[in-house]
Amino acid sequence: MPDSPRRGSITIIGAGLAGALLATLLSRRGWRVEVFERRGDPRLSGYAGGRSINLALAERGLHALQQAAADEAVMRHAVMMRGRMVHPLAGGAELQRYGRDDSEVIWSISRADLNLELIDAAEAEGAVLHFDRRLEEVDFDACTMRIVGDGHDEWRPFTTLIGADGAGSALRAQMARVVDIGERTDWLDHGYKELEIPPGPHGSFRIEPNALHIWPRDHYMCIALPNEERTFTVTLFLPHEGPWPSFATVPDGAAAVGLFERRFPDALPLIPMLEDDFDRNPTGMLGTLTLRRWHLDGRAVLLGDAAHAMVPFHGQGMNCAFEDCVALASHLDAAPDFATAYAAFAAQRMPDAAAIQHMALENYIEMRDRVDDADYRLQRALELRLQERHPGRFIPHYTMVSFTRIPYSVALTRSQVQRGILQRATAGLDRLDGVDWAAVDAEVLRLLEPLAAAS
Ligand code: FAD
Repeated sequence: MPDSPRRGSITIIGAGLAGALLATLLSRRGWRVEVFERRGDPRLSGYAGGRSINLALAERGLHALQQAAADEAVMRHAVMMRGRMVHPLAGGAELQRYGRDDSEVIWSISRADLNLELIDAAEAEGAVLHFDRRLEEVDFDACTMRIVGDGHDEWRPFTTLIGADGAGSALRAQMARVVDIGERTDWLDHGYKELEIPPGPHGSFRIEPNALHIWPRDHYMCIALPNEERTFTVTLFLPHEGPWPSFATVPDGAAAVGLFERRFPDALPLIPMLEDDFDRNPTGMLGTLTLRRWHLDGRAVLLGDAAHAMVPFHGQGMNCAFEDCVALASHLDAAPDFATAYAAFAAQRMPDAAAIQHMALENYIEMRDRVDDADYRLQRALELRLQERHPGRFIPHYTMVSFTRIPYSVALTRSQVQRGILQRATAGLDRLDGVDWAAVDAEVLRLLEPLAAAS
């Protein structure tokens, strides 16, 4: 059995987003941390893929970066996004703010810059990182692991393993050989393709930089997030199969140009390399991964995408993975041994991961289908008014998920109650003037307890 915490060392598999952050957090707390990463050192070889891919960073992720003292370095690369810039087919883009003001915003950050900063931070705190080394096999009885890569192939001892090796986790596969982890992946019938809006002729952003752009089109959509170098990463989400437009009926770049001419006419001139981008970039798959167990007593535990990959529509996969890292670090501080720490971690985080996975699926419908509907906008306006009337009690759904650290499971339950209040209060109305405020206020007071520590 492994040593108890503080006397043993910790081996992390994967120096992606969660692995590098966790290595930083644990090293700062005095752990001896070794990390094995399948890819080459991105500081030497460039970040794999080469394309600009970005992520939305919100309060949960930012808080975790602060715990690792990595926030300043990371935020130098970030571009503020105040809200959604919704582009209807008929034209006339409109900004829908995410929060009340610029204290409630999310940030677009390049995956490459973020990962590089976190790798530097982990090393600066004393973690030892091995690149071009992938976990291949684990002997849990002997507490040894086979590490392969770049001509190496060796069995090494470990004290305990933490799997931060992403959705295709090798550690998870090894755990599944010795225990039933109850793995299940529900693939979404929609996939995605990444495209790019380059800088304008004078090196400026071609469209509003401080927004997440959405082109909602009922059962599919396009989004664009700004990059520091004044490009936008565009992601087109379409069904894999079915009637036009789907990836089956839009099979190549030429067909994609046809789709943009008809359905995204204002975006088309912004993406001069559309045809090439579409042909060159792979079509990504999206799914929700659930497990019945995340750990194998004190010998191994999973976190981040390795434990709970989710669809990206709430922009929370990384934020949730970062929140996992903070939670695991504090359970390791508090528990007498690894097994107790891992059990407490899983008990805390499994309901929260399930909740954000559910909300991420729901948010796809909202983004592609609802954001430009009149009833959605009326309910959104009411949400903001109720937040003013009942501070700390009525907290809009997006605010709870993105601008607070209220556990996701609590956010989900409250959001469901709040949605009912909003729907009942606006039924049959097209303006807030007709709202029965006395009835709505009474419902809020009856159905929602005040939340401590909420804004
Ligand atoms: P990863 O980032 O996948 O890192 C895993 C690491 O493990 C990699 O470096 C990999 O090389 C390494 N590895 C794999 N196998 C091995 C092995 N056998 N041995 C050693 N190393 C190994 N989240 C957000 O919060 N906001 C967003 O806006 C957002 N947008 C997204 C958009 C898209 C299209 C997608 C697909 C995801 C998005 N996400 C977003 C989710 C986010 O990308 C993931 O949740 C996040 O990357 C998870 O981090 P991780 O460290 O768990 O896994």
